[in-house]
Amino acid sequence: MRLKGKVVLITGSGSGIGKATALLFAGEGAKVIVNDISVQGRKTVEEIQRQGGEAIFLQADVTKAAEVETMVEKALDRYGQIDVLFNNAGISGVGAVHETSEEMWDRVVNVNLKGVFLPSKSVIPHMMQRKEGCIINMSSCIAEIGLMKRAVYSATKGAVLALTKSMQVDYAPYGIRVNALLPGTILTPFVEDYLKHSYENPEEALEGIKKRQLNSELGRPEDVARAALFLASDESRFIMGSPLYVDGGVVFG
Ligand code: NAD
Repeated sequence: MRLKGKVVLITGSGSGIGKATALLFAGEGAKVIVNDISVQGRKTVEEIQRQGGEAIFLQADVTKAAEVETMVEKALDRYGQIDVLFNNAGISGVGAVHETSEEMWDRVVNVNLKGVFLPSKSVIPHMMQRKEGCIINMSSCIAEIGLMKRAVYSATKGAVLALTKSMQVDYAPYGIRVNALLPGTILTPFVEDYLKHSYENPEEALEGIKKRQLNSELGRPEDVARAALFLASDESRFIMGSPLYVDGGVVFG
């Protein structure tokens, strides 16, 4: 049990990588606060409870300060502490700069960047008081490689990586570690949606993605969840402000 007794808040854990992480963490003994904007977060909690684990669902939009503050208050009322915050919620954005509407720009920046800022802002004072804590921010390998038609999405994930380093420097004196995950293509509803809206032939696009990797298999949500487990556990106690690639070697491809 690598997270026995730890309380973990995972944003956007109603689906995909967040859900896989919630299930894995609960199996490792964590009490999991499942957050999502959608009620599908309830299903994650039901699955955890079926496994004999401990979890609650707190619905909130990570772009709304009042909702995030209420969520963190409720989590603290219930469990008394938050040891790990995984800022995972995110949405896709497709298009080169000239094809990106102002509305899409604002929406993606809001969820992917403000959605990291607000939960962190609410949880960090509590971690500072306890002089311990672990924050994992969801970036992407796209922060480091240019991919076509991902202007606003790339911008947000690059910013999350820079924010991670800045946060690490600010909060290291309080015993808080802040690291970033940089997944490659992981087959989740998010990627299926992106492929459907970006390519005439999504199957062919997937084959192209695999060819860019050093490993010809496609990543799974569980691959990212296991990397998150390492960052959340004390095994990574000496890893601070780091990007952890979970991408089948795509940044080297
Ligand atoms: P997903 O769509 O399966 O899950 C994302 C979840 O976030 C959904 O349940 C959604 O309802 C929730 N969400 C969206 N907006 C929210 C909001 N405002 N407040 C609270 N919850 C909200 O996607 P995924 O593939 O599991 O992606 C999770 C994270 O991983 C995202 O940040 C994504 O950018 C990042 N990522 C994914 C991949 C990939 O290939 N799947 C690669 C790199 C990074």
